[in-house]
Amino acid sequence: MRRAIYPGSFDPVTNGHLDVIERARKLFDEVVVAIAHNDQKKPLFTLEERLDFLRQTTGALDRVIVLPLDGLLVEFAVQQDANAVVRGLRAVSDFEFEFQMALMNRKLEATVETIFLMPKEEYTYLSSRIVKEIARLGGDVGSFVPACVVEGFAKKLGERSDQ
Ligand code: ADP
Repeated sequence: MRRAIYPGSFDPVTNGHLDVIERARKLFDEVVVAIAHNDQKKPLFTLEERLDFLRQTTGALDRVIVLPLDGLLVEFAVQQDANAVVRGLRAVSDFEFEFQMALMNRKLEATVETIFLMPKEEYTYLSSRIVKEIARLGGDVGSFVPACVVEGFAKKLGERSDQ
């Protein structure tokens, strides 16, 4: 049984993330999407909201599990009996950070390999950060994120402007 962990902040999930999940599903028997809980990035969406978006959008896919991630990624991978960590690579700009993390994780736990997957070209410019910026400025993000996230933005940004 080949199981991979796909970790990230997913704040929020985008079509680029979903593309990587689909690709990973072709390579592994099971893909655990692990949403980082202890995030220094001050996420816009709560952990529960991020879990909910991913569960809604991957609910129809078998062999995909969505879980919160707390603590060290490699420890989580061992607990989950996973032999690989999947990360997405969009551009050269992702490379340095990803390379460093992959080598550090290997140092911490030699049994877990990191695999990089490239998304469809049209998603290479897509990031959660840029989508949040567009949504905040009132732009239409409908072609970048699943429908439940579009609704999530409307709710979240509506709540914020009420405050
Ligand atoms: P993190 O905070 O860990 O970078 P993200 O949620 O931003 O988490 O991303 C999780 C993983 O998905 C990372 O490996 C990132 O490079 C990858 N990723 C993000 N957006 C895309 C995209 N549009 N196409 C492919 N991979 C992506």
